[in-house]
Amino acid sequence: MSNCALPVNEARILLAHLLEKHYQLPRSALLSRDDMGLNEQAFEEWESLVSRRLHGEPIAYILGKKGFHNIELQVGPGVLIPRPETELLVEIALTDITKLNRATKVLDLGTGSGAIALSIASAAPLALLFATDQSEHALGIAKQNAEFLNLTDRVQFSQGSWYEALVQGNQFDVIVSNPPYIANQDPHLTQGDLRFEPESALTDYASGLSCLEVIIAGADQYLKAGGLIAVEHGFDQSQAVLELMKEAGLIDVQAHLDLAGHCRAASGRKRL
Ligand code: GLN
Repeated sequence: MSNCALPVNEARILLAHLLEKHYQLPRSALLSRDDMGLNEQAFEEWESLVSRRLHGEPIAYILGKKGFHNIELQVGPGVLIPRPETELLVEIALTDITKLNRATKVLDLGTGSGAIALSIASAAPLALLFATDQSEHALGIAKQNAEFLNLTDRVQFSQGSWYEALVQGNQFDVIVSNPPYIANQDPHLTQGDLRFEPESALTDYASGLSCLEVIIAGADQYLKAGGLIAVEHGFDQSQAVLELMKEAGLIDVQAHLDLAGHCRAASGRKRL
């Protein structure tokens, strides 16, 4: 491993994956068995994983999984890789759901791998989740994750663009969404992991605010009285998103800081 071209933390993650897969050894074997050699098959796979990573493929796609909040999700090309900053949205929703202390209907718009919906369902046994996505492929992965996590009885999936996936008249206690909010032409789209992720999960092909506009504008129709909407946005979009919420007639409009101290989420409430 010492002459490997990858950063040492990445090499460790890939090696731990192989030790588990080929030898059923835990990650701690990296230390306790540091004199161990890989058999031929494992070594060939090691070389292939290192080469994929050196070509830029995200670690989460190489391993086929990613930890998020209190669950682990299967991920692959075709779904956004869940990010730690999105856990903020889960926490905002869970605070409300816990306070309500009754069966709550929660809507996750643009669920991707199912990260937000499934982590809420997993942490809040009284929550009933509705998760939408315009991509059938993403919904396939999200449904598989619901099965692996044994949450299929409390999570319903439907295909369509934002609220179009829903039956008219359906109203929710909480709406959450991490929509594509990166502006068209943003240089980040051509860097790092983002090069391998579905473009339609990252950018709205416009200013970055167009999907947030649709989602916030629909909140009044799809929220129950007193219901909460919380959305993730880019680090420089806080003011614009708070304005959109106020224009939509929402009250108790708030910005939320992530662990790095950036405003990365906003919430608002429908009047009682
Ligand atoms: N948080 C992601 C990023 O900045 C973008 C995800 C999104 O557009 N919702 O890489």
